[in-house]
Amino acid sequence: MAASVFVYDFADGNRDMKDLLGGKGANLAEMSNLGLPVPPGFTITTEACRHYLTTGDVPPELAEEVGEHLKTLEETMGKRLGDPADPLLVSVRSGAAFSMPGMMETVLNVGLSDASVTGLAERTGNERFAWDSYRRLIQMFGRTVCDVPAEAFENALDEARTSNKVEHDTGLDTTAMKELVTAFKEIFAAHAGRDFPQDPREQLELATRAVFDSWNADRAVLYRRQERIPADAGTAVNVVAMVFGNMGDDSGTGVAFTRDPGTGAQGVYGDYLQNAQGEDVVAGIRNTVPLGDLERIDKAVFDELLRTMSTLEDHYRDLCDIEFTVERGKLWMLQTRVGKRTAAAAFTIATQLLDEGVIDLDEALRRVTGAQLGQLMFPTFVVDGDLKPVARGVAASPGAAVGKAVFDSGRAAELGAAGENVILVRRETNPDDLPGMIAAQGVLTSRGGKTSHAAVVARGMGKTCVCGADKLDVDVHSRQFTVDGQTVNEGDVVSIDGSTGDVYLGEVPVEPSLVVRYFEGDVEPDSDPLLHAVHALLTHADRKRALNVRTNADTGADAARARRFGAEGIGLCRTEHMFLGERRPLIERLILAADDEERQKALDELRPLQRKDFTSLLREMSGLPVTIRLIDPPLHEFLPSLVDLSVKVAVAKERGEDPGRDGKLLVAVRRMHEENPMLGLRGVRLGLVVPGLFDMQVRAVAEAAKEVRAAGGDPRPEIMVPLVGAVQELETVKAAAERVIADVDPGVDVLIGTMIELPRAALTAGQIATAAEFFSFGTNDLTQLGWGFSRDDVESSFFARYLELGIFGVSPFESIDTEGVGRLIRIAVAEGRETRPDLKVGVCGEHGGDPESVHFFADAGLDYVSCSPFRVPVARIEAGRAAV
Ligand code: ADP
Ligand code: MG
Ligand code: MG
Repeated sequence: MAASVFVYDFADGNRDMKDLLGGKGANLAEMSNLGLPVPPGFTITTEACRHYLTTGDVPPELAEEVGEHLKTLEETMGKRLGDPADPLLVSVRSGAAFSMPGMMETVLNVGLSDASVTGLAERTGNERFAWDSYRRLIQMFGRTVCDVPAEAFENALDEARTSNKVEHDTGLDTTAMKELVTAFKEIFAAHAGRDFPQDPREQLELATRAVFDSWNADRAVLYRRQERIPADAGTAVNVVAMVFGNMGDDSGTGVAFTRDPGTGAQGVYGDYLQNAQGEDVVAGIRNTVPLGDLERIDKAVFDELLRTMSTLEDHYRDLCDIEFTVERGKLWMLQTRVGKRTAAAAFTIATQLLDEGVIDLDEALRRVTGAQLGQLMFPTFVVDGDLKPVARGVAASPGAAVGKAVFDSGRAAELGAAGENVILVRRETNPDDLPGMIAAQGVLTSRGGKTSHAAVVARGMGKTCVCGADKLDVDVHSRQFTVDGQTVNEGDVVSIDGSTGDVYLGEVPVEPSLVVRYFEGDVEPDSDPLLHAVHALLTHADRKRALNVRTNADTGADAARARRFGAEGIGLCRTEHMFLGERRPLIERLILAADDEERQKALDELRPLQRKDFTSLLREMSGLPVTIRLIDPPLHEFLPSLVDLSVKVAVAKERGEDPGRDGKLLVAVRRMHEENPMLGLRGVRLGLVVPGLFDMQVRAVAEAAKEVRAAGGDPRPEIMVPLVGAVQELETVKAAAERVIADVDPGVDVLIGTMIELPRAALTAGQIATAAEFFSFGTNDLTQLGWGFSRDDVESSFFARYLELGIFGVSPFESIDTEGVGRLIRIAVAEGRETRPDLKVGVCGEHGGDPESVHFFADAGLDYVSCSPFRVPVARIEAGRAAV
């Protein structure tokens, strides 16, 4: 056979080839090479898909390559695809490099036709099975390849069940199945505008294209955006010889985990369905039995399955999830991958494997993420004695979610966008429910187990989910569910606990999670396996990381909490936050001051207030650096809006009243109005233009430091000048600040540095470092000004489109743009340190708490990141992961 470019036999692949073969294909190859019972097959690469997606057609050599691999497959199986006498059937399965559960398409039983269905019936001696398989093919092929609406088939199936008086399709006999095939073919022709294709090669080719196309299905696009999966990777196509779980009660299909994906506990976890094909399990069409029951149904198969599961765990050294099928007492493995798990399970499994000696500490740390730790810090329900759940379902994905019950995805997305908290309630979910699942606080279903669509997707997204709460009678058409004689309508509040599976009517109050209480010092790490795991991995992360983690805090209380969460100082105190509330009138007086004397009076009143704030910060962070940023926003932000004030004054005049103070304010607001305040009189510019303003703040800092030191503390203030673009600006401010500090107390030690948030500052960092004793990257502004994006506007105007077009995979305000803004950072670090080798460099934008950005900052050689108190543990873990 000539070497193929676009097609790989299972024997030629392995698990490291995910990018080319997709996760499913790579792992099918890995399993066959391990000698596990995998039906033979081959994989069409993601490269072929990318070719198809960019050119609109498959590579010209693909048909021939597929033909050759098919020939090999036919020889192995001793059957030909769709042979009327004894047909080989195949499945045509999607499978991308990143797992996208249920988001793309798969067609089973390809190769059946009017001619081969009788051959299959004769060969297997099972007529009903053959016709059942055929109707499934027409149904899946119709839906996937020709966009025939799923309901059309489902309605026909419903009718068949009703007229035959059976509850499940397993009750339909051969005659009923034959009738169904006739009905399905008519439905197919009516919607597709052509007859169901009888040529097996044509079926194979069309199904392959449909799988490629499913890469761009709406739900797949949405899922990728949510999970930050690149939009152009494409999917592979796996062509796999069919094995049949629908041949009778000695057959069946199931899914399993090698450990509990909810808690990490070892054991037998999964669902099994007798006499069924794979898609029945995930779709929740019939109720599955727990995997443990398979022992009773077929002990030999059960034992082999357990052996196989342990082989897989040993091999992958991690929790695996698997799909398997039993055909007349023979076990077949159809899929495996390192399984998705809850955040808690990620931590406990990593430490279990560590304790079992399977992996080392570094590897254990790599197996958990900051995002997972963040989830463990979500609040949980306060459950007191009187509170009784109305139902208990499967605890599918943890968290405490409260919201209005909503019964369809569109409505959930709508209310979610309007800022409402909603719980999406469904009988079961399917991939079309994705927008609603994203918008909802939690997902509640009345059917399906741990492996149902709702459970798998919610777990992947870190969304709270209770599924299979079968006491609920969900009626999506009348937008309500009933339970215990009570009716819950759309808009009624429900609370669901994804850690216990409990469902409550009404709003249940929440309390801090166990992990947060551990950070607060309220519980000992050894009291709980999860805390033990968090403690062990966080300790290791702290040992390994080079990056320090500070916090953004403006109050003593925030600073104290952040310190308990592990913060090693304050990276950003926004002094303007101290000008709000009751202090606002003082700022107004400052702005309206007619002369220096009046202005100084206002400043003199502000200073003790600022000093008090700084004293409490410096006290709480004694021994650790506290970076205080001088006032940054334009002053008119502290005044009423031009529009409001104009109206007020106009109304007063209309009534013949004296607008008084408002009139004076209006004049000031008019005078200070700017078209682009973001680019106007703010930051260092304010300090250079408004006499005494920065001096007052610097004096307050120096006095606070003096006071804390006198009380026995160890204050380490750092004064940070915002929005510097030229070294001359900083020099002027610094000289003045040093005079003020010396005046207060020549003994206090205050570092003076600057934010790097203008591209010009980054590009002249070498000069700026002659004056700056530290740099702190203001990555929000650096991103705004680097891209020319106004953060307040663009996210709602065109970012959605940009993400769709793949211009960037994630908003640059969420994760640092490493290529552009990141390059500015690298330049500034290098040139700044060239001037001043001991220059301290940190980050104080939102990016400081974003896991991916933290890795970039570690790589760029920064000394610290700073983030909000609740992100501090997240950043600690990620900084540790970046170092192992
Ligand atoms: P997904 O990625 O959505 O899980 P799959 O490609 O795994 O889609 O297929 C859907 C279902 O069909 C699964 O339950 C799978 O086990 C089953 N299946 C796929 N290929 C075969 C096959 N060759 N024989 C029997 N069942 C199959
Ligand atoms: Mg699958
Ligand atoms: Mg800024």
